[in-house]
Amino acid sequence: MFSGGSTSGAAGSLLPVAPTLDGLRDALGAFAAHDGAGLTETELVDHLTALEKVKSAIAAAQARVSATLATTRARSEADAGVPAAERCRGLGNEIGLARQESPVRGRQHLGLALVLVHEMPHTLAALTRGDISEWRATLVARETATLSKAHRAQVDTELTGQLTGVGDKKVADLARAIGYRLDPGSALRRIRGAETDRRVGLRPAPDTMCNLTALLPVAQGVACKAALTNDADAKRAAGDPRTRGQIMADTLVERITGQTSANAVPVEVGLVMTDTTLLGGDQTPAHLDGYGAIPAFLARRLVRAAEEAWVRRLYTSPHSSSLVAMDSRRRTFDGQLRRFLILRDQTCRNPWCDAPVRHVDHVRRAGDGGPTTADNGQGLCEACNYAKESSGWRTRRVAGPGPGHVVETVTPTGHRHQSRAPDPPGRRRYPYRLEIQFAPAA
Ligand SMILES: [Zn+2]
Repeated sequence: MFSGGSTSGAAGSLLPVAPTLDGLRDALGAFAAHDGAGLTETELVDHLTALEKVKSAIAAAQARVSATLATTRARSEADAGVPAAERCRGLGNEIGLARQESPVRGRQHLGLALVLVHEMPHTLAALTRGDISEWRATLVARETATLSKAHRAQVDTELTGQLTGVGDKKVADLARAIGYRLDPGSALRRIRGAETDRRVGLRPAPDTMCNLTALLPVAQGVACKAALTNDADAKRAAGDPRTRGQIMADTLVERITGQTSANAVPVEVGLVMTDTTLLGGDQTPAHLDGYGAIPAFLARRLVRAAEEAWVRRLYTSPHSSSLVAMDSRRRTFDGQLRRFLILRDQTCRNPWCDAPVRHVDHVRRAGDGGPTTADNGQGLCEACNYAKESSGWRTRRVAGPGPGHVVETVTPTGHRHQSRAPDPPGRRRYPYRLEIQFAPAA
């Protein structure tokens, strides 16, 4: 399957030969042609197992290739006089782009690669043999993250042979238990480290619902749940007809937003929709800032329920992305122009990054003469904006294959990645998009 064959006899020993890029591409074709036709049921099951092991072996190869890239980059940057602390900055983002994943995942992949290659050879070997999946290797690395290098190596050695045939939870338990025995203080460091990770997130759920999640220290999480439960029980006892779950959800919204009722639409909710969706009963979906697409009827319901709403026209002409003039003479994006770019880009413009926009920045740097205009602006998350400033990264506005705002990012290795701003609601059919902004609750 891989060009060069799987083994070659060199001086009497069988040494594996690394596949070439063409060989890897050929492998894609071979896998695409594989549907198991003509195999017996026993063979089909055997093929499933073999394919699973190939996935793990590929993950191990990706880890080794990533670690080699890090070593090579550090060496070339050292030769170029880059200070040690700044070497390989942005490399995780490059790995994310190369693996068609977000920068966050890219940095995780690089971290795992360095741990496996330099600190956990037995775990890497298990991954290479297909005994464990990439996720289980990640769990072993994660559970040993607060240990010293020596203790981590000890866990790696002790786990040899124990990882085959055990599930995700058991893999993590095994690694953690050895770590606690070798270094009892690591438990305390883990707790302190975990507490710095506390955060709140929002994920879309089916039927235009969403999951608002909080990662909290356990005592605080339990206290929040108890407060909501006690409040709901008291209201139910006083005759409130809502279910316990409904009261808890409503009280959560009311206490966080300070609204008197959960249904009063909160401050600063941005909704982008066509004029005909708003006024004409059209079914073109709207975009709710911070969430994504919502059906037209729900957008209209939100507008109707608001005590007050502002309507602002964002685009000037039919079938184009030109917007009401908002260009600025200033060097920073602020006011309406910033608001427009956040709504246009919806999430970070880096390919495969879904993070919320935190920075609105120049595609062509202001210092290089880039104007502060919608064409030369893009919304980025914090991490992608910092990576873009690393040495060897370039961005420019290019004409895309279709309409829309296209930015090309060139990485230090010269790889080019394009990202196109998403289509606003009704781009092809309607002249105007409206942003509806709800007034603060009275
Ligand atoms: Zn990003």
